[in-house]
Amino acid sequence: MSKSKIDKFPTPRRRVVILGGGESGVGSAILAKQKGFEVFVSDKGNIPNKYQKELKENDIPYEEGQHTENLIFNALEIIKSPGIPDKVPMIKELHKKGIPVISEIEFAGRYNKATIIGITGSNGKTTTTNLVFHLLKTAGKNVEMGGNVGFSFARLVAENKHKILVLELSSFQLDGMFEFKSNIAILLNITPDHLDRYDYKMENYIASKFRVFRNQTSSEVAIYNLMDENIKNFLKKNPLNSKAKPVRKIRVEDGYLKVQRSKYDLKNVSLKGKHNLFNATAAILAIKQLSVSNALIQKGLETFQPVPHRLEKVAVVDGVEYINDSKATNVDAVYYALEAMDKPTVWVVGGTDKGNDYEPLADLAKAKVKAIVCLGVDNTKIKEYFNSICSTIIETQSAQEAVKQSKKLASKGDVVLLSPACASFDLFKNYIDRGDQFRAAVLKLERP
Ligand code: ADP
Repeated sequence: MSKSKIDKFPTPRRRVVILGGGESGVGSAILAKQKGFEVFVSDKGNIPNKYQKELKENDIPYEEGQHTENLIFNALEIIKSPGIPDKVPMIKELHKKGIPVISEIEFAGRYNKATIIGITGSNGKTTTTNLVFHLLKTAGKNVEMGGNVGFSFARLVAENKHKILVLELSSFQLDGMFEFKSNIAILLNITPDHLDRYDYKMENYIASKFRVFRNQTSSEVAIYNLMDENIKNFLKKNPLNSKAKPVRKIRVEDGYLKVQRSKYDLKNVSLKGKHNLFNATAAILAIKQLSVSNALIQKGLETFQPVPHRLEKVAVVDGVEYINDSKATNVDAVYYALEAMDKPTVWVVGGTDKGNDYEPLADLAKAKVKAIVCLGVDNTKIKEYFNSICSTIIETQSAQEAVKQSKKLASKGDVVLLSPACASFDLFKNYIDRGDQFRAAVLKLERP
């Protein structure tokens, strides 16, 4: 019997162990149970209460705070949470024992019946996933979104309710995927990020992102950014088998975004910045594969609201506009944020440095930034780099303090932009917490 036949008709004793009890792990557990596997979930940390409840309701055994080896090493297959790096001892041991370790995407892909639009890139995944979903929903399609955002793919497959699934795919999810394929795949860009998980080798990270096109044939569509040097160079040596839809440039003429032979009026569209016009171009190319009319695309573009924490306009207080771009956790995202600013900018930056090279930001900072407000525990690198570029650099250690100081530094007509270029874990739970605290502090200025 072929491997895939065995997978589809498991004997009741087939044991699947899921490492990680978050959304992806619990989604996988529910799907595996539904398909007749013997399931066990193991998480070295804590499993959130809502997921423990779900596991109990589904009669799925689990453990937290430990990995019990003899409950794991008897698995025929391991589904690993994307958050667990390959280099941890447990995963190394599994590899040594020859027990297959796959991602939730690979597992769920075996049972999926929906058309898949898979979206990856270093930046813009969530925005583009939301946009594609919104455009399809506006066009009346039976669609849901998930993956690295919202519901796990496995949960959506278990529900089996939607004809089209729009999936945000992180490189960690792509790494454990072998036979899965997207009907339509989008690769937005590749800029340095998460290199600690790729032996600090950019080529490893690039290869991981290209897995989004894995297994595609000429019947499947590949949409990619040909303005991105990393993508362009990789393709020269590794041509795709897919039906290619490259984006060679962003075409805006007289207030219209042009995509292939169609054009869309940008007058009432809230997406701002060149990067978002690119995201919109990629999204429209995908939607066009599913026969959506231009009128409905136009309607969808006009009703789409930017996702929170991504160039989110918070408020205008005393003539100063405050923007929350807390999700800009790397240099490339900040590049596009600064590029989109058309007023003198007080830039709130800092946090846990991920090995940043600030060089690409130098010219934009010179042209647009009037003051820098550091928001982090250790701001040495930022101070050293921007010292010669910006005469006002101050340090703060809370969102409230950063907003208070920014208010003092900004004049009417300026903008205060939180776009940190760093992770948030030194002072905040995560980027959402950072953005929420920033937003709350700004709104307090409005109503002290
Ligand atoms: P991801 O899910 O890939 O992290 P998001 O949509 O959450 O992407 O956006 C993350 C950050 O990147 C935000 O600061 C956003 O403004 C910025 N961004 C969005 N799209 C792009 C793009 N195409 N290129 C560069 N930066 C982008």
